[in-house]
Amino acid sequence: MPIEPRIARRVSIRGIVQGVGFRPFVYRAAVEHQVFGWVLNGDAGVEIHVEGAADAVEAFVDRLRQGTPPAAKVAEFEVRAAQPEGLSDFCIRASRHETAPTVRMSPDLALCADCRHELRDPANRRFGYPYINCTNCGPRYSIIQRLPYDRAGTTMAAWAMCDRCRREYADPLDRRYHAQPIACADCGPGYRLIYGDEHVDSSQRAICRAVGLLSDGKIVAIKGIGGYHLACDATNRSAVAALRTRKFRKEKPFAVMAATLDDARGLVELSAAHEALLLEVTRPIVLAPARRELPDVAPDNASLGVMLPYTPLHELLFGAGVPRLLVLTSANRSSEPIAYRDDDALSQLSGIADAFLIGERPIARRVDDSVVAVRKGRPMMMRRSRGYAPAAVCRLPAGPPILAVGADFKNAVALVVDGQALVSQHIGDLDDYASYVAFEETVRNLLAMYDVEPTALTVAHDLHPQFRSTRFAASLPAARHVAVQHHHAHIASVMAEHDLLDEPVVGVALDGTGYGIDGTIWGGEFLVGSVRAGFERRAWLRPVPMPGGDAAARFPLQAAAGFLANLAGAPGLDALGDLPDMSQPPFSFSRRFFDALALARKNVRCFPSSSFGRLFDAVAALLGFTRPPTFEGQAAIWLEHQARQSQPQAPYPFPDLDHRPMMSAIVHDRRGGRAPVEIAAAFHATLAGAIVEKIGELCRQRQIGTAALSGGVFQNELLLTAILDSTGQLPGIRLLVNERVPVNDGGICLGQAAVATVANQRSN
Ligand code: ZN
Ligand code: ZN
Ligand code: FE
Repeated sequence: MPIEPRIARRVSIRGIVQGVGFRPFVYRAAVEHQVFGWVLNGDAGVEIHVEGAADAVEAFVDRLRQGTPPAAKVAEFEVRAAQPEGLSDFCIRASRHETAPTVRMSPDLALCADCRHELRDPANRRFGYPYINCTNCGPRYSIIQRLPYDRAGTTMAAWAMCDRCRREYADPLDRRYHAQPIACADCGPGYRLIYGDEHVDSSQRAICRAVGLLSDGKIVAIKGIGGYHLACDATNRSAVAALRTRKFRKEKPFAVMAATLDDARGLVELSAAHEALLLEVTRPIVLAPARRELPDVAPDNASLGVMLPYTPLHELLFGAGVPRLLVLTSANRSSEPIAYRDDDALSQLSGIADAFLIGERPIARRVDDSVVAVRKGRPMMMRRSRGYAPAAVCRLPAGPPILAVGADFKNAVALVVDGQALVSQHIGDLDDYASYVAFEETVRNLLAMYDVEPTALTVAHDLHPQFRSTRFAASLPAARHVAVQHHHAHIASVMAEHDLLDEPVVGVALDGTGYGIDGTIWGGEFLVGSVRAGFERRAWLRPVPMPGGDAAARFPLQAAAGFLANLAGAPGLDALGDLPDMSQPPFSFSRRFFDALALARKNVRCFPSSSFGRLFDAVAALLGFTRPPTFEGQAAIWLEHQARQSQPQAPYPFPDLDHRPMMSAIVHDRRGGRAPVEIAAAFHATLAGAIVEKIGELCRQRQIGTAALSGGVFQNELLLTAILDSTGQLPGIRLLVNERVPVNDGGICLGQAAVATVANQRSN
C-alpha cells in the first residue's frame, strides 16, 4: 500500500479560547477531516499539532479559521510548518499549562441557542431546568473560586454529577465535554421561592409562583448570574413607583428586560448596531432612544436601557407568561453594591422585595450587568462588567506585571500580564464600604488567579493623595509605584484601546473632577503629547473658585454660585452689583446659593476648579434644575434632555474657554423669557463649537493629526455627536473616543496601566 505523503502544521490560537468549548470543537473538526495530532491549552492559548494528507490538513486548518465556538474570541491565529510524527489518532491532551495566564478565565456567557432549544423541548431530559448550560454557554467568572478552572474550584463543587451528566462531561464528542457547571434536575441545584410564610421548593412551581406574583404587580428579588435583581412589571405604574420608594431610588433610570427582540423593538428605537449588541453573547443592557414612555421607569431621560434574557431562568419566566417587559434592576438599597449572597439579600431586601426567587448555586463574586450605548454606529461601553470581565480589553507592550487600581468613583481595576490588559468588573464607588471590600477582594483575586506576586508588581494609581485606591496602592509591597494624573489616564485609556501609545495627540479630558498636578480640581483639560512622551496641559476651562470644592457636585446651586461670582470684573460684562436678584423668578434660588455666593466672592472655603461637570450643573441650575440631584450626573442628563426638545440654536460666545460671556448671556436670556430648552441647546452648541475650535488650534500649532476625547462629560450624546459630526472643520484630524472601556472613570485603570507600561519600558 503506497504511503500517502504526510504534512504537519502547528496552529497557535490566542484570545478567549478556554472554558468556551474550544478543544472539543477542534477535536470534532479533526475527526471529521480524518487528521491526526493533538490539542492542548498552552501558555498563551490553544496549541494544535495536526498531521495527515495535505488536502485534509489544509481543510482542517481552514475549518478552524472560519468558524469557532460562538463564545470564543480569537485574537491571533498563527500557522507554522511542523514535522510529522507518525501519529495515528487525534486526542485532547491534558496539559500542565491548563491554567496559563491569558486563557484562565472566561467571562460569563449567555444561554446558547442549543441549550435554549433543549430547555423548551419536553422530550429533553433538561426540559425546564433553570441551570442548563454547555461548553458554549453558562456562568464562568461568577462561579470561579480558585484555579484551575474545574468543577472543584467552582461554586458547583457541592453538587456531585449524576451518571448521565458525568458521561456527557467526559465525552469529547458531547457538547457538554468539560462543561464545568454541567448539571441536570437529577443532580444539580434548583430554585425555590419565599413569599412571606409561603415556601415553594420545586423549581418549576417556584417559577410559576414568581410569574403569578410579578403579573400581580409584586416586586420579586431574583437571583441571577452575578447578583440579585429586583423585578417588577415595567408597565405597571404602581409597581414601579413602589420599587422606587422602597429602594430609595427616586429618579435614576431602571433597566428593562424585554422577552424578545420584537418586544425590545416596540419599546426603543433600535439601529442595526443596537440589535447586534442586544444579541451579543455578552448580553449587555443597551441604551437606546425610547419609543414609548413607561411611567417612572426612566424619568426625564430620552433613552432607556434594555436587555434580552440571558439565563435559562429568564427564558423560563417569559415562557411561563411573566409580563413581557420587566424592570430588572440591581438589588440594593440606593448606592450600595448589588446583593449576591442569599443571607444578605434576604436581610437587606426584606423591606423592598415582596418575594424571593432564590437559586441554590452560589455566586462567587458580584458582577453587575454591563451597559453599552451606541454612538455614530459604534458601541460605547458605559459600564463594563458581566459578559466582558475579566477578559483582556487590549494588548499593551509586554513587560513586568502591572496592577492599576483606577479611581475612587466607578472603580474598576486592571491587571496587565504578558501584555494582556485584563480589566475587572465594575466595582463601584469606593466611599461605600462594601464596594471597598469588593475592591480589595478583586485585586487579591486577580493576583492569585494569575500567579502574580505583589512584590513583582508595578502598581499604578491616581495622583489624588486622599483616594482610597491611592492609599491601598501605597500599602502594597510592590516593586514600583507610578502615580498617574487623572486626565492623563483618561486620554491614555483611549490611546491604549487604539494601540497608539507613540502617537502624538491632542487629548480632551472633560469630567466632574480630577486631582490636578497643581493640586487644584481639574476637569476641563486639553492635553498635548503622547502616552510615550508624556502630556502637557495646554489649555483648560477658565477656573472658578468653587465653594466647597468637590462637595459642590452634590448641589447645582453651589456650582452656579462659583460660576456667577466669577462674572465680577470681566471685561464687557455686567458689574458684580448688576447680577439680578436671583431669589426672584425665573431663578428662585434658595439660601444655599446665596451662602455659597458669599463664600465664592470672598474666596473662603473655595477651591479653584476647571471642571466641565460643574459648568453643566451651574447651567442646569440657571435653567431650573435647582434641587440636589438624586444620582450622579443627573443635572447634566436633565440638561441634555432639555436641549433635545429644541431646534438647533446658535452658540454663545466662549472665547478661549472663558465661560463668563456665556454665563452672563444665559442669565440675560433667561430673564428675558427665552425658553430653557433653547438655552440648553445653545449651551450644547457652544461647548461643541469651543471644543472643536480648540482641537483645531492645538492640532495646527503642533502639527498633530489625532485628537482623543475622554471623561464622563462625553457620555452626553448630544455633545459627543456634535463634535464627531464636525470633522469638516477639522480637516485631516481623526477623532478617537473610548469604545471598549468607559469614558467615565471606569476606564481610568486602563489609562494608568498604559502609562505604567511606558514608564517600565523607559527605565529598562
Ligand atoms: Zn449552551
Ligand atoms: Zn445530572
Ligand atoms: Fe474622570
